[in-house]
Amino acid sequence: MNTDSDCLFCKISSGVIPADVITESNSAIAFRDIDPKAPTHVLVISREHFSDVDELTASDPNLAGELLTLAASVAKIEGLGTGYRIVTNIGQDAGQSVPHVHFHVLGGRSLAWPPG
Ligand code: 5GP
Ligand code: ZN
Repeated sequence: MNTDSDCLFCKISSGVIPADVITESNSAIAFRDIDPKAPTHVLVISREHFSDVDELTASDPNLAGELLTLAASVAKIEGLGTGYRIVTNIGQDAGQSVPHVHFHVLGGRSLAWPPG
């Protein structure tokens, strides 16, 4: 499995940097965002290092499906029965700030659409 010792989310996955973990599996981990934008704001990441969804889907589409499945289970764990949003940013124009693939799970309030 490819990891990057300089990568923030690889460090969270391996436990070098602590996080508030919601649920995890052998291949993925879900933890609370340090700067939440909604009452529930959880990040779902692969344990293996991929920079973004482009790289992940090209290399391991099954793992991409596992991450979405884990994101949906986070919504159930968090009781987001009235709706929630899954977002992933890819690259500079989208404002991706951590270059390790992650899905944001946002909910717990009414979410404006479209985003700014
Ligand atoms: P992006 O902007 O790349 O789509 O999302 C990165 C997210 O990672 C941001 O929402 C940011 O608040 C979150 N984040 C950055 N550093 C940390 C950290 O050390 N721990 C946690 N739990 N979240 C972080
Ligand atoms: Zn990484």
